Amino acid sequence: MAVEAHKESLDFQAEVRQLLHLMIHSLYSNKEIFLRELISNGSDAADKLRFEALSDDALFEGDAELAIDVGFDKQARTITVRDNGIGMGRQEVLDNLGTIAKSGTREFFAALTGDQARDTQLIGQFGVGFYSSFIVADRVTVRTRRAGMGPEHGVVWESDGEGSFTVETVRREARGTEVVLHLREGEDEFLDGHRLSGIVRKYSDHISLPVRMAKEGEDADAEPETVNQAAALWQRNKAEISDEEYAGLYKHVAHDFEDPLAWVHSHVEGKQEYISLFYVPARAPFDLYDRERRHGIKLYVRRVFIADDAEHLMPQYLRFVRGIVDSNDLPLNVSREMLQHNRLIDAIRAGSVKKVLGLLEGIAKEEPEKYAKIWTEFGRVLKEGPAEDHANRARIAGLLRFASTHADTEEQTVALADYVARMKEGQKKIYFVTAESFLAAKHSPHLEVFRDKGIEVLLLSDRVDEWLVAHLEEFDGKSLASVTRGELDLSELAGGVERKKEKVSRKEKEVLRRLRTVLEDKVKDVRATDRLRSSPACLVVDENDMNANLERILKSLGQQVGGSQPILEVNAKHALVAGLADIDDETRFADWAHLLFEQALLAEGGQLDDPAGFVRRLNDLLLTLAKPATATAAQDPPAD
Ligand code: ADP
Ligand code: MG
Repeated sequence: MAVEAHKESLDFQAEVRQLLHLMIHSLYSNKEIFLRELISNGSDAADKLRFEALSDDALFEGDAELAIDVGFDKQARTITVRDNGIGMGRQEVLDNLGTIAKSGTREFFAALTGDQARDTQLIGQFGVGFYSSFIVADRVTVRTRRAGMGPEHGVVWESDGEGSFTVETVRREARGTEVVLHLREGEDEFLDGHRLSGIVRKYSDHISLPVRMAKEGEDADAEPETVNQAAALWQRNKAEISDEEYAGLYKHVAHDFEDPLAWVHSHVEGKQEYISLFYVPARAPFDLYDRERRHGIKLYVRRVFIADDAEHLMPQYLRFVRGIVDSNDLPLNVSREMLQHNRLIDAIRAGSVKKVLGLLEGIAKEEPEKYAKIWTEFGRVLKEGPAEDHANRARIAGLLRFASTHADTEEQTVALADYVARMKEGQKKIYFVTAESFLAAKHSPHLEVFRDKGIEVLLLSDRVDEWLVAHLEEFDGKSLASVTRGELDLSELAGGVERKKEKVSRKEKEVLRRLRTVLEDKVKDVRATDRLRSSPACLVVDENDMNANLERILKSLGQQVGGSQPILEVNAKHALVAGLADIDDETRFADWAHLLFEQALLAEGGQLDDPAGFVRRLNDLLLTLAKPATATAAQDPPAD
């Protein structure tokens, strides 16, 4: 048989080296987690064996009693963690213990900040568990054999965690994996049964597999005792589970160091039976926007782990949720493909979404401060909801928070219900403005008339907002309306009788006509408006055209967009506009017209086609102001 028995020495991937260095230097205050990580790997290995054995019972090799044994040797100064799970073949060892095979490695390194607390948490999320052995060990030996392969397929891996490792094929009777840590100088505190069993209970109580240790003072042959609870936590009665236990399971599932912010645990009975336990993390994972990386919900069937899957159990807009679903009705041999078109899975997903939305609604109502935290971390993801999940659109809308002219802070704190409660008598619509930044939105000239009348406007400046308002047409029977779109009609509004639209004078009409001629290539139309107060002009989009902010976003994403022309609305009463009537020189008039258009474009965050031309026109104008003697009356600066 062509077994490569030779011992080979290989270099770690550069990322692994970097990671090892980082871990050893940033996790020293949290050293004990190495044990949690090794036990977690043993537990995963047992899950994998159980799952593969569903279709091939022989993999158990007559021993289906899965467990993890933790031991230590004071003389040799070693700690050993052994499992009888799936084990690894030589290639698997090379793949898993020499590289970081995960996607998102680049994002991970990019996300590192140098701030120890934050980076420590990132390492946890990244789930680089095995390498944490080197926090306490200066040599690690792994002996393993894959279930179902002959004893001649054993593998020994060894490394000092510096730059390289060795791999050798050996004979090994025992199935599964044994990790031996040769402790660093000064780490003897871990050569203590109490200390070790304490750590096991602290982190691994929720693991459904027994974690065993030899009883203190008894010889090695004595029956070991189970130190953790070893019962799938989610199977237990809610009332009997402590917050610490819930948090412990979360950390295992989510690879997180921090406690979760909230959770919801349900035993569902009815058409089908399942248990779900969902958590909301305290912080967004670094790869929240990496759509490739989709995990976080573990699917079990009658306590057998089936798959780490998020795609089929949670929609995209809830992808920050972590947790467990344990079904009583799915077949044990359910395959990934089967998850795709499965009535039971679809029903579980629908139920799960309701649970999570209910959890969020409860927090929003009872604990607004906590909800504010959730919103800061995950709000932009939740905003994808109305587009993705039509059935729950109204409920999701209730969870949304925005900045608005009422609160005047960048913080997104205004719920649509708050807005509706503050609507003026006669106001039928929920008004919003979208812009590239909060300040651009807040200072948009379009808001002038709304400020004047005391009408609240939502200030939207997240990229996803365009997507959101395209799909969220209404809330509580009130339609959402952009203040930059179409003709503004506030006439129905309270304050009694709206003053009749001021008539546009002949003189003003003539100015509009001349502006239209000059700006023919730039705008669809030029018209008078009464939405402005202190600004001379603004741009609006025609009822059915694409909004300029959305157009810019699409362009920045490399998409071809049609480029529909805006409408220039001018404040005919503004001194700058009124003065135009007196300019007879057509070249001068054209300069003014362009400046008017260009400043309106700049005010809403747009980009000038000809910035140098703008600067020249502006400077010419400034020059006329610097030499008042030569200026004509038309260029009088506006009064304010
Ligand atoms: P993670 O557990 O998040 O995948 P780790 O660094 O803890 O990351 O482990 C890397 C990989 O090494 C695991 O995905 C698994 O394939 C393999 N591995 C580690 N420990 C064991 C073990 N005890 N039994 C089988 N495979 C293991
Ligand atoms: Mg692991």
